[in-house]
Amino acid sequence: MIIVMKPHATENDIESVLGEIKEMGYKPRVIKGDVQTVIGAVGDENSHQSLEMLKTLEPVEQVIAVQAKHKLASREFHPESSVVSVGGNKIGAGNFGLIAGPCGVESIEQMHQVCKDLSAVGVKILRGGAYKPRTSPYDFQGLGEEGLEILAEMKRVYGMAIVTELVGVPYVEKVAEVADMIQIGARNCQNFNLLEVAGAAGKPVMLKRGMSVTVKEWLSCAEYLMVHGCPDVILCERGIRTFETATRNTLDLGAVAAVKKESHLPVIIDPSHAAGRLDLVLPLSKAGIAVGADGIVVESHPCPHKALSDAAQQIPSAAFGDYLKAIEPYVELYTQSFK
Ligand code: PEP
Ligand code: MN
Repeated sequence: MIIVMKPHATENDIESVLGEIKEMGYKPRVIKGDVQTVIGAVGDENSHQSLEMLKTLEPVEQVIAVQAKHKLASREFHPESSVVSVGGNKIGAGNFGLIAGPCGVESIEQMHQVCKDLSAVGVKILRGGAYKPRTSPYDFQGLGEEGLEILAEMKRVYGMAIVTELVGVPYVEKVAEVADMIQIGARNCQNFNLLEVAGAAGKPVMLKRGMSVTVKEWLSCAEYLMVHGCPDVILCERGIRTFETATRNTLDLGAVAAVKKESHLPVIIDPSHAAGRLDLVLPLSKAGIAVGADGIVVESHPCPHKALSDAAQQIPSAAFGDYLKAIEPYVELYTQSFK
């Protein structure tokens, strides 16, 4: 860490700050400038207590952390791009991930239809919420355990890998039993206790970015999962809250590019929740892939106008092949860029 003293700091002030730094296990290195003194505190910031409290001392102007708080998720620690396997389907480092399915699991008939339509055009990873985090308590909350049983049946019948959301600690065992990858939704991105439990569940985790979470904070959330035992984290950009109302959220493409530079973890985009409207799902998908996303998670329903949640943004499953054809050239460019 770097400690910048105020211009009027006396020798005594500097000595007392040096004492504090040593007491906390860091080795201080003093640089005396013409106007201000800067102290470099040498030591692993992740295994020592932060020196941030030195900011409370009057002669201290600034305390600056040098090390990132997301060591395991960082490229510095792991330079090669990681590959995550979701029920045997690789995502990352040139393996494009395609995850599709309805917002919510609503009935066995709905799920049979969507699985027939999606698997006919080559989709291998099914996503559907058995537990739905809804803004209003009066809205469809998902079928819960019955939804998980339907997902397990889809896995048996169609051989698709399953991604489904964990909304609370009490459901972790049941969700992990069925899921090939656990989804942590945007609203729970910084639910640290849930991240600890999800990280220890023994399954890959797809971590959606919270709608007001910075890239740095998002990576710290991934670090929670990794520290608690999950090396297989996929980051999912699903749009953030901005002033714009033309789209449901603002797909942050800059963050996709930035997080790919900072982290080795696969990054995918969710054009459905970003757009909130069907007509923008395809252009946002193309843009996401063009900027370097390693995959897409997209909503598709056999009969969107009857969907119990997110009706306006779901691709009719019978037309999913057309969507795939339209993104194919972009996926090809992504794959080529790793050869
Ligand atoms: C969802 O995936 O259906 C969902 C609720 O997404 P998000 O957490 O991104 O809002
Ligand atoms: Mn949804």
